[in-house]
Amino acid sequence: MSDLLQQFDLVIGLEVHCQLDTQSKLFCGCSTSFGGEPNAHTCPVCLGLPGALPVVNKKVLDSAIALALAVGADIRQRSVFARKQYFYPDLPKGYQISQFDLPFCEKGGITLTSGKFIELTRIHIEEDAGKNVHGDKNSFVDLNRAGIPLLEIVSTPQLESAEEASDFLRRLHSIVRFLEISNANMEEGSFRCDANVSLKRKGATKLGTRCEIKNLNSFRNIERAIHYEAVRQADIIVQGGTIIQQTMLFDANSGSTRPMRSKEESHDYRYFPDPDLPVLFINEERIEKTRKSLPELPAQLEKRFIEQFELPAVDAAQLTSDRDLAKYFESSTKFLKKGTPKLAANWILSELAREVNDRSWTYMNCPVSAQSIAQLVNAIGEGTISGKIAKTVFKSMVETGKDPETIIKEEGLVQISDKSAIRTLVERIVNENPAQVAEFLSGKEKIIGFFVGRIMKESGGKMNPAAVNAVLLSTLNSKKVGS
Ligand SMILES: [Zn+2]
Repeated sequence: MSDLLQQFDLVIGLEVHCQLDTQSKLFCGCSTSFGGEPNAHTCPVCLGLPGALPVVNKKVLDSAIALALAVGADIRQRSVFARKQYFYPDLPKGYQISQFDLPFCEKGGITLTSGKFIELTRIHIEEDAGKNVHGDKNSFVDLNRAGIPLLEIVSTPQLESAEEASDFLRRLHSIVRFLEISNANMEEGSFRCDANVSLKRKGATKLGTRCEIKNLNSFRNIERAIHYEAVRQADIIVQGGTIIQQTMLFDANSGSTRPMRSKEESHDYRYFPDPDLPVLFINEERIEKTRKSLPELPAQLEKRFIEQFELPAVDAAQLTSDRDLAKYFESSTKFLKKGTPKLAANWILSELAREVNDRSWTYMNCPVSAQSIAQLVNAIGEGTISGKIAKTVFKSMVETGKDPETIIKEEGLVQISDKSAIRTLVERIVNENPAQVAEFLSGKEKIIGFFVGRIMKESGGKMNPAAVNAVLLSTLNSKKVGS
């Protein structure tokens, strides 16, 4: 963090747009599937043709209720859809249907890894706009995305660092994934975030002027963008300048932000209730029905993993950051015999996670099954293979999809713990290297590593390291008294 920033407190609020996984759009029956021929998924409603009337998609309401309950928000019994007017080619009606002064729900919040609670301002329902596509000479408009249902989740400006902002976003991301209301695919823009960033002098109460960075679509980019923007603003302030309230774009290649347009105030949008849509009434019964069907949420699961499997908090947090990963881990524990859940977590979070990322697998379609991972951990726990051989076995599991028991048998990788076999090899290696024995006897005990290396090499790494160490030490020590 730049020295410049030490004089300031960073104030960050986030607005997250989360695309809901519904078959059809928010106010019409058009498909929401990603891609497709431009303008193939359109109809008079989402094209904004005169006389077409919107009808609310009920699945959207149930998704919104689920998220509200998951973050402890207060659901408004009567909320109102409002028209947000602005002119842009990708907005055929000349307004976006959103919610303004009577949003779907308010309050609630997200607990960060540090335990700090970040309150939400609101969650509301709105429709997405279309997309402008710019060619060399012409520009085009694709309205497949127009009318796709979004939830906008707005935090209070309680976030104080780029790291807190990305932690907030990760936690919210995992909640919507656990609820299965959104695939939250950030690359496709199904989960994207605007960050409002401002600075105030340390200890000051008055907030500084904020700038909004638009459409950040990765956890890493949100951190980079906030860092850059904070330093940019600090630079202006210490040089006696003033911050202009504006909307910024983040360029991921250069890692910098640049102004896009001056920031609109809400009165610029001339909001008013949409006369084509009735007041949205949510009754208690509907809320209760959703409450009963809520799955275990990441925070609850994290707590349970710590208690039930005696995992360190950091492992539990990582495992529950993704629904499929959490399921994978939990199903592996059902096959554990000798190994510990902690050891299974280690293998899943390091070796397996790396392969899943590198090979673009998902935990659900991964050729290394949860049962296989458990078998591998069992084999280590039972002393059948060493941790080092386990890496060889794992590599083979990844390449062939075979289970570890088969691989260990086929490749003859069973660890040698048999004392007499170990003793025979140790004695041979000791006898073959009198110079190193003399070094040991003269007090250079580090030379023991030389012998261990030789023994492991000769046995193809298959000898039990603890047993080798014990036999080796007693053999060398016997030379002391025996000479
Ligand atoms: Zn439509």
